[in-house]
Amino acid sequence: MKKPHHIIIAGAGLVGSLLALMLGRRGYRVTVLERRADMRRVEMPGGRSINLALAERGMHGLKMAELMGDVESLLIPMRGRMLHDRQGNLEFSPYGQRPHEVIYSVSRGELNKLMMTAAETHFDVDVLFNQSVEKVDFENNRVFIKDHVCDKTTSLEFELIIGADGVGSEVRTALLEVNGGHCSIDMLDHDYKELSIPPSNSGESLWQMEREALHIWPRGGYMLIALPNLDGSFTVTLFLPGKGVPSFELIDEPHELEQFFDEQFADAKALIPNFQEEYFGNPIGELGTVRCDRWIYQDKAMIVGDAAHGIVPFHGQGMNAGFEDCSELCRLLDEHDDDWSAVIPEFERIRIPSANAIADMALENYITMRDSVMDEKFQLKKEIGFELERSFPDLFIPRYSMVMFHRIPYAEVYARGVIQDEMLNQLCAGINSASELDAERAAELVTSRLEPVVQPA
Ligand SMILES: Cc1cc2nc3c(=O)[nH]c(=O)nc-3n(C[C@H](O)[C@H](O)[C@H](O)COP(=O)(O)OP(=O)(O)OC[C@H]3O[C@@H](n4cnc5c(N)ncnc54)[C@H](O)[C@@H]3O)c2cc1C
Repeated sequence: MKKPHHIIIAGAGLVGSLLALMLGRRGYRVTVLERRADMRRVEMPGGRSINLALAERGMHGLKMAELMGDVESLLIPMRGRMLHDRQGNLEFSPYGQRPHEVIYSVSRGELNKLMMTAAETHFDVDVLFNQSVEKVDFENNRVFIKDHVCDKTTSLEFELIIGADGVGSEVRTALLEVNGGHCSIDMLDHDYKELSIPPSNSGESLWQMEREALHIWPRGGYMLIALPNLDGSFTVTLFLPGKGVPSFELIDEPHELEQFFDEQFADAKALIPNFQEEYFGNPIGELGTVRCDRWIYQDKAMIVGDAAHGIVPFHGQGMNAGFEDCSELCRLLDEHDDDWSAVIPEFERIRIPSANAIADMALENYITMRDSVMDEKFQLKKEIGFELERSFPDLFIPRYSMVMFHRIPYAEVYARGVIQDEMLNQLCAGINSASELDAERAAELVTSRLEPVVQPA
C-alpha cells in the first residue's frame, strides 16, 4: 500500500481529532469512530482534567493544521509557577527567561470541539459517535464496531486503521497480538481528584488568584495545583497517594478532609465554596505510564497519542506529545511523498525513543513539582541554568525549557539534560548564590561537554 484512499481513526479525543483534521487537510477521506456521545451536543461528566497546559510542541501541531488562529482565543498564558506555602505566602518563579517562554492553559473540551468541527466542516472527515472499536481482524482487514445507540455490532473493511483510542486502546491490544510486541502499563501509586475555585463576584478581577500562573501547593509527598479558566474559575487538582498517610483512602470523612486542608492548603480551601461536595462527589482518577515496543502492524495499523505512550501529567506533555506525533507523521508524509509503507516504520523508529524519554521526564517532574521547587538548591541551579543559557544560547538550554519551549526531540532533551545536570551540580557545589559562579569553569564545562543544539525546522 502506498497511499490509502480511506483511513479509519479510532478515538475522537484530542489526538484523534487533530490527526483527522491534518489528514483531511492532506486530501484523505477519514472516518473517526468515537465511543462517547458528541461532546458538542451532550454535556460530558466533569472531574477529569478540565484544562491542560499547551506548550510549543502542541502549538506546532495546531499551526500545521492551520488552527492556531482559532485556538488563540481559548488560551490563558501561564508565565511561571506561583508557589503557595502552608501559611499562604506566595512566591512566583518564572518558567522561562524570554517573553515568549510561557505555557498556556486551555479547556480540553473547547479545544477538542474546535478540532472536530474544523475537520468535519472543511474536509472529507466523518466523526461517528457512540461507536466503540471492539476488535480488529488483521487477516481480513475488518474492524468490529459496537453501536451504543442501537446496541448492535457491525464491521467495516479498512485499508489503514490508526488507534488514537487512549490509554485503554483496543487497537493497541489487537496489533500487539499480531506483531509480537510488548506493552507495559505501570500505575502510579498516587491518584488525583479535581475541585474548582469559582470566578470572583466582586473586586477588579474575575480571577480570585493571579491569573497568569500555574499555582502549586508543594507539600513534599503530595501537592495541589490550579490552572486558570477563561470564565474566571480555576480547576484545582489534588495529587495524593492512594494509600498510606496521608492518602485518598484515609481522607474519607468530612472532618478528616477539613483538618487535612486546614493544615495543608488553607488559602485554597477558603476559595472553594463547595469543597465537601466536590471532594466527595468527584471521582478519583488513576495515573499510569504506557510503554510499548511496537506501535505498528505492517502498513495496516499504527497507534498514536496516549494509546502508544500514556504518561503521567506532571510535565504537562501528554497532549503535547500526542500532537507532536501528528506533526511528525505529517512531516514524514511530506518527506516520503505520502508513501505510507515508508512512513509507518519510520514513524515508529523515531517516536518510540522520544515517547520513552518524555515518560521518564514526566515521572521525574512529579518530584520537582511537589518537592524540589521549594528547595534553595533547586532555585540556585535554575538561576545558574538561566545564566548559562544567556551566555551560551546555542549550547545550554535548561531542560524544562527544552521540553516546553522547543521541539528538540525528547530523547535528545533527556540525554542533554543528564549532562547539564551533572554540570550544574559541579558548578553549584560550595556556592550559595549565582553571583559566586565560577564563570571560567562554567565556560570550560559547557563548551567541552555540549554540542550545539540543532533546532528542528
Ligand atoms: C489530570 C491530567 C492532567 C493532564 N494535564 C495535561 C497537560 O497539562 N498537558 C498535556 O499536554 N497533557 C495533559 N494530560 C494528558 C492528556 O490528557 C492526554 O495525553 C491526552 O488526552 C491524550 O489524548 P488522546 O486523544 O491520545 O487520548 P484521550 O484523550 O484519552 O482520547 C481517546 C479517545 O478515544 C475514545 N475511545 C476509547 N476507546 C475507544 C474505542 N474502543 N473505540 C472508539 N473510541 C474509543 C475515548 O472516548 C476518547 O475520546 C493530562 C492528563 C490528566 C489525566
